[in-house]
Amino acid sequence: MAVQETVDHKYVYDFAEGNKDLKDLLGGKGANLAEMTNLGLPVPPGFIITTEACKAYLATGEEPAGLAGQIATHLEALEREMGRRLGDPDDPLLVSVRSGAKFSMPGMMETVLNVGLNDRSVVGLSAQAGGNDRFAWDSYRRLIQMFGKTVCEVPGEEFEHALDEAKRAKGTTNDLDLDADDLRGLVDAYKRIFVKHTGREFPQEPREQLDLAIRAVFESWNAERAVVYRRQERIPADLGTAVNVVSMVFGNLGPDSGTGVAFTRDPGSGAQGIYGDYLANAQGEDVVAGIRNTVPLQELEQLDKKSYDELLAFMARLEGHYKDLCDIEFTIERGKLWMLQTRVGKRTAAAAFVIAGQLVDEGLIDLDEALHRVNGAQLAQLMFPRFRLDHEFQPVAKGIGASPGAASGKVVFTSARAVELAAEGESVILVRRETNPDDLNGMIASQGILTSRGGKTSHAAVVARGMGKTCVSGADEIDVNVPAKRFTVAGQTVNEGDIVSIDGTTGKVYLGEVPVMPSEVVQYFEGSIEPEHIDNPLVRAVHRIMTHADGKRRLAVRTNADTGADAARARRFGAQGIGLCRTEHMFLGDRRELVERLILARTDDERDSALAALLPLQRDDFVEIFREMDGLPVTVRLIDPPLHEFLPPLEQLAVNVAVAQERGEDVAKEEALLAAVRRMHEENPMLGLRGVRLGLVIPGLFAMQVRAIAEAAVAVTRAGAVAKPEIMVPLVGAVQELETVRAEAEKIIAEVVGDSGVEVLIGTMIEVPRAALTAGQIAEAAQFFSFGTNDLTQMAWGFSRDDVEGAFFWRYLELGIFGISPFESIDRDGVGRLVRIAAEEGRAARPELKLGVCGEHGGDPDSVHFFHEVGLDYVSCSPFRVPVARLEAGRAAVETDGSDSR
Ligand code: PEP
Ligand code: MG
Repeated sequence: MAVQETVDHKYVYDFAEGNKDLKDLLGGKGANLAEMTNLGLPVPPGFIITTEACKAYLATGEEPAGLAGQIATHLEALEREMGRRLGDPDDPLLVSVRSGAKFSMPGMMETVLNVGLNDRSVVGLSAQAGGNDRFAWDSYRRLIQMFGKTVCEVPGEEFEHALDEAKRAKGTTNDLDLDADDLRGLVDAYKRIFVKHTGREFPQEPREQLDLAIRAVFESWNAERAVVYRRQERIPADLGTAVNVVSMVFGNLGPDSGTGVAFTRDPGSGAQGIYGDYLANAQGEDVVAGIRNTVPLQELEQLDKKSYDELLAFMARLEGHYKDLCDIEFTIERGKLWMLQTRVGKRTAAAAFVIAGQLVDEGLIDLDEALHRVNGAQLAQLMFPRFRLDHEFQPVAKGIGASPGAASGKVVFTSARAVELAAEGESVILVRRETNPDDLNGMIASQGILTSRGGKTSHAAVVARGMGKTCVSGADEIDVNVPAKRFTVAGQTVNEGDIVSIDGTTGKVYLGEVPVMPSEVVQYFEGSIEPEHIDNPLVRAVHRIMTHADGKRRLAVRTNADTGADAARARRFGAQGIGLCRTEHMFLGDRRELVERLILARTDDERDSALAALLPLQRDDFVEIFREMDGLPVTVRLIDPPLHEFLPPLEQLAVNVAVAQERGEDVAKEEALLAAVRRMHEENPMLGLRGVRLGLVIPGLFAMQVRAIAEAAVAVTRAGAVAKPEIMVPLVGAVQELETVRAEAEKIIAEVVGDSGVEVLIGTMIEVPRAALTAGQIAEAAQFFSFGTNDLTQMAWGFSRDDVEGAFFWRYLELGIFGISPFESIDRDGVGRLVRIAAEEGRAARPELKLGVCGEHGGDPDSVHFFHEVGLDYVSCSPFRVPVARLEAGRAAVETDGSDSR
């Protein structure tokens, strides 16, 4: 029989075969281990099982064909290189089995250490460690514990109870007091727990241990906490994880061993220097878990100068190579330094800007690249307020400023309670001794996180920084008692529900609610810090990068504002005009009565008199806005919502009338109102008499608004300013609607404007799908289009923007039907396609047609990139998002229009 020729798909890579650009295939950890290996840095040898193998396994529940053989081949090569065999009773090779996805998901997936230990090789390990029995048995019990919990789902508490029991029997609370015999006894206890829960003995065969651990890592991709984390961080669900099989090195072999984490710059502030934590005689997991308090990395210089100098040299090398802040995990085994991980490190928003600026100064990157390395979400974070601290507020504790921001809220002690209270709309601060991956939901729900243990690299710190949540870690004056739902600090007791405030920049903790003040970045945007006088490194970096973004961007940025004050603020933030002035608020407050008169009018005279009374009020509103926007375009939208929104609610009115009738009062006026409200009642007001439809039904309404706009523009111009009004008609679906409004408007404008020199444009919103699909026709009658993507999203999907987010979006997000709410970020495939069609067909019909967007998407970073790609002229967003849109428009320009910086 002919030998069947199958070329196996390559599922396993040796470190020497990979590089940092293979993150899709090898995951971030694997790709960077490979890169370090190729740079000649001391990485413990190992191999990587690809994300493709994981995806194949998750799809079928079985290892793909060829994988087992490839693992065997790479394992043999590893054994040859190390001169040791897995499971060898005399001189065993041990390996760690670690997850590593394309994007870092700290602590969300599984790791199993010390694979290869069994009843026989534990003796060999002791000999290897110079007769250190205690170390060997401790390693073995760690393996059974980790393996049992992560691979075989044995409840972790059972192992913890057994460990506590062993310590109690010994009369100690410290693990280090357990000697080799105690640990041997603990191994027996652990094995019994294992048998009880799995119905089988702990596997002695090393290759079986390895295969089961690899499977467990594959499966951990779909563990609930990993799924939640991906959703939060918007990491796609279909990437899979790679698995790194790495020969073990030990940081817990004595005082000349240890483990640590280092950053090439401060990930909190971006400041240059050496940042990190070191823990002597410990394994890496002890540092990240925040279980024992670490010492600053600088102290390593005294402990082991050779390793310290070497580490510093490697850090400088890595930073120069990656041209960015790197974070590093390392272990020292009996004086020999090993690099266990590196990656471009997570950082706070402030550090992102500061570091990008520094790297430009150092000539490592150019300004395009600096712009690429920051983003609008980070800038938005820098615009959050900070605490205003006067002497009344004294901190009660000080921990590590692990993730900046100012947060106040009710104290909670469990993730579940945090989720519960947050769902009721409360701000909460999650307080824990230390967090672990099971706290993820609570961390997401909280305003801030406070822990009493752990450093800048503890779980709480790393995850909070990644999420942009305020976090203070390691506030060790705080004594947390979770079961009693309270903590004590400085002689005071704080119970669940009490309010605390935490400052993630300074690490200070306050009792009660501390008031806040605007951030320095906002003060800069507001113009209260002149560029020449910026001495704050963050503000200087923001200024520099924003200036570059403004120079590069093709999209203009306008604002949505309907008061003079908002217009003025947005202008200071860099808005280049108003893209949407909603006029409906001008019909509320003490003008409601006039609007009621308008709606209830039975004769033309009654209606005209109500409109005549509204006209000067509207004109004054526009005068104020045009003045603030002197020289810049102002798009005023004619009234949009259904008129019944200006009347009292039907049920309440009906009850009032019935009660008054019962009392025999004169209710003629109320009855007329009730009749009008009944007449105007609609089942689907969003799809009812609103927008242009209203303007066509109520004679004189739009005419009054057009006149007020034109008169205001003329008045402002005569006073020496420049008004550039653009009148926008809402909810148009057919060109005839626009033509009708326009014909009347043009007459009024001609009459009012005369020879004042004022030019008034007339255009339309594109927010009904039919308008997008007939844009070519509509453009014949419009000087500009502005996409109302709120309504366009609502109508394209056929769901009500008022109701659905609470009703079922959670489920759609859970199922992955949405990655993010389409009201928040543009649905490129559906709603985006309508925008594209309308832009193309509109411009084909009228090449000079101005195109903008004024729905909420105008300030959403990803959507801004889309609008840039489609070729719109501007985006318009709320004042606070103007700087974000400017930055993202700049980023879109350097990213899509090509940059020679990479
Ligand atoms: C829109 O629909 O996107 C829009 C800007 O108008 P409004 O939100 O006022 O309906
Ligand atoms: Mg709308």
